[in-house]
Parts: sequence; structure tokens; C-alpha cells
Amino acid sequence: METYSDQYINGGWTPSRGGGAITVLNPATEEPLATVPAGTAEDVDAAVAAARAAARTWGATDKETRLGHLTAIRDGLAARQGEIAATVTAELGSPIGFATAVQAGLPLGVAGSYLSTLADFEFSERVGNSTVYAEPAGVVAAITPWNYPLHQIVAKVVPALAAGCTVVLKPAEDTPLVARLFAQIVHEAGLPAGVFNLVTGVGTVAGAALAAHPDVDLVSFTGSTAVGRSIAEQAGRGIKRVALELGGKSANVVLPGADLVRAVNVNVGNVFANSGQTCSAWTRLLVHQDQYEEAVAVAAKAAAKYVPGDPTDEATRLGPVVNAKQRERVRGYIQAGLDAGARLVAGGTDAPEVCDRGFYVRPTVLADVTPEMTVAQEEIFGPVLCILPYRDEEHALELANGTQYGLAGGVWAADEETAVAFARRMDTGQIDINGGRFNPLAPFGGYKGSGVGRELGRHGLTEFLQTKSLQF
Ligand code: NAD
Repeated sequence: METYSDQYINGGWTPSRGGGAITVLNPATEEPLATVPAGTAEDVDAAVAAARAAARTWGATDKETRLGHLTAIRDGLAARQGEIAATVTAELGSPIGFATAVQAGLPLGVAGSYLSTLADFEFSERVGNSTVYAEPAGVVAAITPWNYPLHQIVAKVVPALAAGCTVVLKPAEDTPLVARLFAQIVHEAGLPAGVFNLVTGVGTVAGAALAAHPDVDLVSFTGSTAVGRSIAEQAGRGIKRVALELGGKSANVVLPGADLVRAVNVNVGNVFANSGQTCSAWTRLLVHQDQYEEAVAVAAKAAAKYVPGDPTDEATRLGPVVNAKQRERVRGYIQAGLDAGARLVAGGTDAPEVCDRGFYVRPTVLADVTPEMTVAQEEIFGPVLCILPYRDEEHALELANGTQYGLAGGVWAADEETAVAFARRMDTGQIDINGGRFNPLAPFGGYKGSGVGRELGRHGLTEFLQTKSLQF
């Protein structure tokens, strides 16, 4: 087991000022992998001071200089794809095939996409007798979760650096090892000291100190609604900008005439990917009442293919959830659904027979879910699909829009025109039409309780900019 006692601050690895440690567990074996420092407010002070000291010089660099450094970061991610995938499999439990394609591949693609976004971006424009400049927001606090640990880091840090901001990153307690790997890649990319800093630590200590720090200009946070709300409240008092990505309860709506079997199969894959720990997962499948039993049968058959297993095995499609607390939380939701009258079509609350250890949850499908049930309203963040029947299109829309969230969704119809017309009425930030592919340049973010702001592409870059007008 590795023992790390340093933080990445001001261009180098420096001893943490605390002494406490966080033990990182392998969720498939429950065995310790490493310890990392539990950073303190003093670590955060040092990191923010370094970021502040570097901000003016880095903010004044030209586009070509920043493009050079970001290209080196992209190349570093490309060179370490295997190491990244193995690290995420070890600390999160993502099956190695998924970890390679998505946990390592997606951040590489996103980092690459920002090279073209930055190259094409104009940092000034003439408006009447003014020149309007897009200037960096300043010092950014990036606070990230564990479910797509490197993607969420890259989706914040890369555009922040591209915009000319300096960054202090506080990654999730469960997945700090890939964050340390990212810091090594940034270091090797030769960024000036202080432009990027990493403080590992507990959310209520290091995270809270960072979010509240008076010298931070913008907090970019992904995680739970409760923490997002407290960060926004605090930021309001300090007149600080926030970008919040707080999860969802996304609906996949299958309209009559659509390819039902494909829509349901894609939905099952979508909701069980990463053990259901995806904020944009389609956790509610909405099907017309006349096709309901057919959809339930297709979902049950598809779910049977997701046998929980060892995530280091190439054949495994479903790994454990991240930790014991999440396992209990997800099982609690399944039980709450059954208690409220939902029908168990696949899975359940008991441990899967194939796994004698590890934080596993059986891939679960609940039918006859009604909109007022907790499982239809709250983010479960585990491999659980809820299927709800609707009477007609208006009812489907009412159900789709009937939660506090609005992050993602899917619409399937006989033709694109019908699907697009329905999707335009959904209170949701990103919707796939008839299984449309993920686009790393498209803005990602939520309506309503799913958050504030957008990540990825041009919209993700402008999140880290502010504007200044000069009249002449
Ligand atoms: P969390 O919100 O507690 O943690 C997310 C990040 O915020 C971590 O880095 C954490 O250390 C930090 N943090 C925690 N408390 C903080 C505070 N007071 N101030 C500043 N930073 C703080 O999320 P969690 O406990 O890891 O997961 C709980 C639930 O959140 C999940 O079950 C899921 O529903 C949701 N979640 C959503 C996403 C998403 O992508 N939207 C990701 C992870 C978790």
C-alpha cells in the first residue's frame, strides 16, 4: 500500500500541513489501496496564495502559450491512458473495459476538444464604439466528485486554464489517486508554478475552506445538491461566482411509433453503466401504457446480461458501487420502492451471489413506479431503473418534467420532428434524440435543481471568463 503525504502546491509536491490521512479503498475487494493527506485550511491557504500569485501573469499569456501547455496536458493524458484506466478501476471499481473507453478516453477527448475551442475563440470583439474583452475570472476552486473522477477534473481545469484562470483542485475523498496522476501530467506539461494546485482532503474541511476562501473568485462544483446549495449560499455572501452540477433524475421518453426494443435496450445500458453512478443517467423510463408490459419484459431480459463481477476482468460489465455508504443508500432506495408498491422485475436488495466481498448492488429494474414515490423523485446513484407508464403525450411530458431536476434525457419517436418537438418542451439541459451520440462540444448542465452553468465546449470556456468594455 502506498502512503502519500504531500500536496501539489506552487509547482511542486510539498508536505501537507495537517498530518491526517484518508485511506483509499478498492471497492471490489474492500482492501486499502493507499493513503493520501487529509488537507487542512492551511494547505488550502497555501494553494490559493500560489494560485493568486500566478493569476496575473498566467491571465496575460497569449492564446498560443496556453495552447502549447494544454497540448502538452492532452499528450500526457494520451500517453498514460492505461495507467489512468487501471487507477480508476482500482479506486472506483469501474470495469476495466468501461474505464479504458470512458474514464480514460472521455477526458482525453474533452482535453483535445478544448484545443480547437480555444484556437477558434476570439477574446475581444468590437461592439459599436466599444471593444469588449473576455478576461479570465481569476482564481478558480474546482471541487469534484468520484463518479467520473478524471473527466470531472478535466471538464473544469482544462477550460479554466484555457480561459487564463489559475486553479486549486479538491478532488473527492474516494478517488484522489487519479487526481494525483493528473497533477503529475500537469507538472510534466511545464505549467508555471502556482497555475495549477491540488489539495486532497475531506469535503467538510479542505472543500469547505476552499469554497469559502476570500481569495477565490469562482467555485466550480459537481456533487450533491445539499453541498451545492451550501456552496451557493456562501458564495452569495462573498459575491463570488459559482458553477454547479448537481445531478438529475432524467427521463427517457419512448413515444408511440418509436423503436421500443432499441430504446429500452439502450436505456438499460445507459442506467447500468458505471454501476448507475452517472448524473445524466436515464433513471426513469417512460413508456405508453399500451406498450408497457412489452417494455418491462425487454428491460428484464437486458438487465440479466449485467452480471456483477471483478472489475479488472475484461468481460465484466457491472462493478461495485464506490463505497459501503453508497451501497447501503442504494439498497435503501430499492427497499423504499418495494415498500411503496413498486414491482421487482430484476435485481433486489440482497447481495449478488457471485460476489462474496465488495460494495456490490444487484442491477435492479422496478416497474409500476408512480410519480410520487421516492424512487421516482430522488437521485439513487446506483444501478436502478424505474419504469413508469403514461397515458398520452401530455401525461408523458408532465411526468418527464415532474421532478426537481432537469439535467438530461432521451426522446424516441417514429421521426425526428416529433421527437424534437417533444424535447423542446422538456425542462432539461441535454436530450438525446433517437439515441443521438454524446457530443463533447455540446454544453452540458442542468435546468432547475440540476444546477447553474454549463460545462464542455465553447459554453464551458466562457463559464471561466468575465467581460470588460472599453469605449473609444
Ligand atoms: P458530495 O457532494 O458530498 O461530494 C462532492 C465533492 O464535494 C467532494 O469532493 C467532497 O469532498 C466535496 N464536499 C463535501 N462537502 C463539502 C463542503 N461542505 N464544502 C465543500 N466541498 C464539500 O457528494 P458525495 O457524498 O460524494 O455523494 C453523495 C450524493 O451526491 C450521491 O449519492 C449522488 O446522489 C450525488 N452525486 C452527484 C454527482 C454528480 O455528478 N452530479 C456526483 C457525485 C455524487
